[in-house]
Amino acid sequence: MVQGPAGCDEHGPGIGPGVHPGSLPGSYPAAPPRPAPPRWLEVGALGAVVDGVVTVGGSRAIWRAGGSGAQLDGTTAAPEAGPASSGPASGAVASARQLVKVYGEGEAEVRALDGIDVDLGRGRFTAILGPSGSGKSTLMHCLAALDTPTSGSVVLDGVEVAGLRDRTLTALRRDRVGFVFQSFNLVPTLSARENITLPLDIAGRPLDRDWFDLVIDTVGLRDRLHHRPSQLSGGQQQRVACARAMMSRPAIVFADEPTGNLDSRAGAEILTFLRRSVDEFGQSTVIVTHDPVAAGYADRAVFLADGRIVDEMSRPTAQAVLDRMKSFDGMGSADGTGRRS
Ligand code: ADP
Repeated sequence: MVQGPAGCDEHGPGIGPGVHPGSLPGSYPAAPPRPAPPRWLEVGALGAVVDGVVTVGGSRAIWRAGGSGAQLDGTTAAPEAGPASSGPASGAVASARQLVKVYGEGEAEVRALDGIDVDLGRGRFTAILGPSGSGKSTLMHCLAALDTPTSGSVVLDGVEVAGLRDRTLTALRRDRVGFVFQSFNLVPTLSARENITLPLDIAGRPLDRDWFDLVIDTVGLRDRLHHRPSQLSGGQQQRVACARAMMSRPAIVFADEPTGNLDSRAGAEILTFLRRSVDEFGQSTVIVTHDPVAAGYADRAVFLADGRIVDEMSRPTAQAVLDRMKSFDGMGSADGTGRRS
């Protein structure tokens, strides 16, 4: 097995953008040295949607996806206390033990996760890689308490997730997890600034102005704060999503193919920001990607195939990740995609 309590490969001094990510021909130009989520995840950092109702930080708001775009109406602030940590902070910000996720049954059964053991290092940048269908998104959703495993355990920031009630789970996600999705998931009728502060606003929590300023300047959005998403490029929209994810100072940020809808330059900007957030703010960060270049920004790459962790790499470079992924071609599938039916 390839995890370890360490789960957190030490990153040498001076390592950061421009040093080890490496570059690949035809990929991100200045590599200082990436499937649509289910509908209810579309609001990502905002919480869970049930029948058009967004649960935001324990508060509820009506989600209307009309012709002019989605709107939030009638919010009520009713923040709920989050779960108590079950223990002292360890070297791992999130851990899974013998994690199994099975979809369907009988002939339609798919074993998306097949006994995963992994520790994600606190203050580290981890990339989860693998071919389409290997279980990357399922693993991320289970680790982020967005999905319930069939069996096994997940400990998120010291909290055992199994058995938590819905409201407590909502509070756990609200307080400790930041989400960045491939499709940005911004509210189109709100400005960049309003999008960034929305989760806090609806949760009725105060904004830390210094933290806001620091994040905004780091992500380079100062002069775009009053623009609406439609007035922003894809890269700028994703930067807004990144800032939103970090506004509550979460224990961990999960990013699912964060560069998947971006051109190479914008993708590099996002990855550079994520890298900086780890180096400068100690932000524990996990990205799910199939892109070796994106993985090259991480401290550690974890490789999935057929619902299992099959390898890992410390201080990965894009080329090394590409080579490793090529060696996995064909694993878990007859067609080389890794997808099982
Ligand atoms: P990846 O993110 O690596 O592409 P996923 O985690 O999305 O992989 O999927 C892993 C496996 O689980 C795939 O075979 C996929 O078809 C299956 N799967 C994912 N979500 C569902 C679902 N909601 N219902 C049935 N099968 C699913």
